[in-house]
Amino acid sequence: MAKLQPVRGTHDLLPEEARRHRHVIDVARDWAERYGFAEMATPVFEFTEVFNRTLGDTSDVVTKEMYTFNDRGGESITLRPEFTAGVVRAFISGGLSQNLPIRFFSAGPVFRYERPQKGRLRQFHQINVECLGIVEPQADVEIIALAADILDALGVLRDCTLEINSLGDAESRVAYRAKLVEYFSGHTAQLSEDSRTRLQKNPLRILDSKDEGDRAIIVNAPLLADSLNEASRAFFDGVRRGLDMLGVQYNVNQRLVRGLDYYTHTAFEFITTALGAQGTVLAGGRYDALVETLGGPKTPGIGWAAGIERLAMLLGDPALVRKAIALIPIGTAGEARALKLAHELRRCGVAVDLAANGNISKRMKRADKIGARLAVFLGDDELARGVAVLRDLLNGAQREVPLGELIETLAPAPAAAPAFAPSRI
Ligand code: ATP
Ligand code: MG
Repeated sequence: MAKLQPVRGTHDLLPEEARRHRHVIDVARDWAERYGFAEMATPVFEFTEVFNRTLGDTSDVVTKEMYTFNDRGGESITLRPEFTAGVVRAFISGGLSQNLPIRFFSAGPVFRYERPQKGRLRQFHQINVECLGIVEPQADVEIIALAADILDALGVLRDCTLEINSLGDAESRVAYRAKLVEYFSGHTAQLSEDSRTRLQKNPLRILDSKDEGDRAIIVNAPLLADSLNEASRAFFDGVRRGLDMLGVQYNVNQRLVRGLDYYTHTAFEFITTALGAQGTVLAGGRYDALVETLGGPKTPGIGWAAGIERLAMLLGDPALVRKAIALIPIGTAGEARALKLAHELRRCGVAVDLAANGNISKRMKRADKIGARLAVFLGDDELARGVAVLRDLLNGAQREVPLGELIETLAPAPAAAPAFAPSRI
């Protein structure tokens, strides 16, 4: 019954997995807010044009990995293979360029037609941040520091190393491009077919090739650092000084180039050896020309994305947070009482598992499995005496509580402020 399997390269987020997943997003969102990033969401699909125009027509993503189809109206549509292009499109179409600088946080599914393997899926999920409107290295430093803080808060920073490089400004890249063409032109016979195409269209891209033959030639290619002009060098120095000041550790990797066309100046990746071949957990860079490429006003930008599945694989077993209450009625009077009590408790913000079926030991096992912190027994005898029995499931301590005091005993004090304050206009 192959049809009953999830599609190759996709997976279900069953509760255990969903919990890790949410933990990653919650931690990232919390830190992003501290850095002034506002959460936003864009549609899962865009006009194909949005990605074709920005990612570069020799990038792996555009040439091989996009899920593109014509919809019923004949429009070419693509499931987003990354967030940046869509976020920038939203920035432009939402007319947000008056509010600079502006910082966005997003999380959600991303689609790429890749060969599925450990850490490489066709539908995966990313957390993504973008900062628009800051030309100075300060933005690069802050966004990298945010990445480090999130990885640290997840407890995975110690498994990662940060690599940074400068791709320089447009002028530096023109100079570098010329050197690369000269170098690779002397080795065309050994280059892969893909890289021969790249040599015509975008020689820089060859440096990102994963082909082994290509890699052997890339080792001796000229270094970008030697083509950086004064301004690009000064910018990169500024980024490094900032990171040093904040104590963010990094290695300069002169071979680091990013897979997409829109990057300028700073490129960076957090890499781990703990995941085998798929070692990049978080990657990003500066893209000062992207907004213009999409038809918006000239606006500098920088951002990064991290794969949630790869991060989730690095997490230790997150502790089960024990917060639910297991209500265990014994007898018909108890059952009626339990239904009402569960309802009241839930309205007071308490998670309640009403365990009315099966024998008591089965129900106790279930309470443990769902991570309940307390079991409340409502037996006929106790009800007749006007009490319920509370058992602390962590230490086994047991006590009786008068029925009239149950709610205040079990429900936490009400939250101080509503989650959504009425907006002041
Ligand atoms: P890779 O070199 O592994 O193909 P990439 O350069 O294509 O990565 P980015 O486009 O920078 O990746 O995406 C950012 C992050 O998203 C990656 O660092 C990784 O954690 C995650 N990611 C990318 N592709 C996949 C995938 N197919 N499955 C799961 N996670 C992925
Ligand atoms: Mg890739």
